[in-house]
Amino acid sequence: MIVVIKSQTPASEIERIIQQLSQYPVTTEKIIGKDKVVIGLVGDTSVIHPEHVQQISPFIEQVIRVKQPFKRVSLEYRYGEPSEVVVPTPNGLVTFGQNHPLVVVAGPCSVENEEMIVETAQVVKATGAQFLRGGAYKPRSSPYAFQGHGESALSLLAKAREVTGLGIITEVMDTADLDKVAEVADVLQIGARNMQNFSLLKKAGATGKPILLKRGLSATIEEWLMAAEYILAAGNPNVILCERGIRTFDKQYTRNTLDLSVVPVLRGLTHLPIMIDPSHATGHSKYVPTMAKAAIAAGTDSLMIEVHPNPSKALSDGPQSLTPADFVELMQEIAPLAQFFGRGTKSAFTSMTQFGTKIPFTVGV
Ligand code: PEP
Ligand code: MN
Repeated sequence: MIVVIKSQTPASEIERIIQQLSQYPVTTEKIIGKDKVVIGLVGDTSVIHPEHVQQISPFIEQVIRVKQPFKRVSLEYRYGEPSEVVVPTPNGLVTFGQNHPLVVVAGPCSVENEEMIVETAQVVKATGAQFLRGGAYKPRSSPYAFQGHGESALSLLAKAREVTGLGIITEVMDTADLDKVAEVADVLQIGARNMQNFSLLKKAGATGKPILLKRGLSATIEEWLMAAEYILAAGNPNVILCERGIRTFDKQYTRNTLDLSVVPVLRGLTHLPIMIDPSHATGHSKYVPTMAKAAIAAGTDSLMIEVHPNPSKALSDGPQSLTPADFVELMQEIAPLAQFFGRGTKSAFTSMTQFGTKIPFTVGV
């Protein structure tokens, strides 16, 4: 249930309303929007009558029941206002959200060694992308496949961050690793295979770090939003939802099926920012640029692209990884597109063109 407060209501009156609402056996939360303050009530609100709440104060504009099973995540909970996830990085604040420029996250599937991660980070930085991605802990289908270098890879990510100033996004798979990963990551990634690892969601939520929550391999949109609800319920509103393809019947030509319809669907259901990952969605580097552009046209707030200096030698996800040269080309192509859809960045792409051939197109590993 939400209680919408009229604009210009004195702060003391808002506090009095919250005080009055605390008589109910529910949690109250003050949400300060751009032009309205909303008080959210979460818990068993079936015992509360909206008419009674309305009588608490003439400054209450409306009392609305949130019908969705996901409460804090729902669009209604913020009275229709999209939320923003603002991430401090050494290069400055980066904002994920509907009224902000497209945010690009790029890098290898796994952090393999210092040279490859630092050089990839330099390319990523030169294109104007804001975040470096790379896994230290890898969720692999086979226990015999490369599992990631773990802690030592975290320090390589820290090095890449220091050299480029890029924000770092990396996956945490186990609650036991949370502190270590949170020390290096600016955004914690919870992967598709852990989307419903509820103890991980609660503990990662409690770190207060922004969370990138990937959609589970076969998760419905409701299951995905309920997973996000766990993080918000842990007191952390900074969640970005990442669609990375869902399992459908064709394995022969694509790895997964990119459900781009989630963009308009989520817009009607949730205030949270959206990221699209065409790399894991398609599984083939040749399809990544097309789907990245389609995602921008659909209105995504952000893109995640796998980039590897030498994809044929990659320890994981080589077939879907773009080479640095292909990534530079993609960034050049999407710049005017993002601009066209009102999501352009200021000068990043222009400076990239000036960078010209200085970008290490052919980094060997
Ligand atoms: C990844 O980002 O490298 C990854 C393993 O992603 P997902 O959880 O979407 O499979
Ligand atoms: Mn990967």
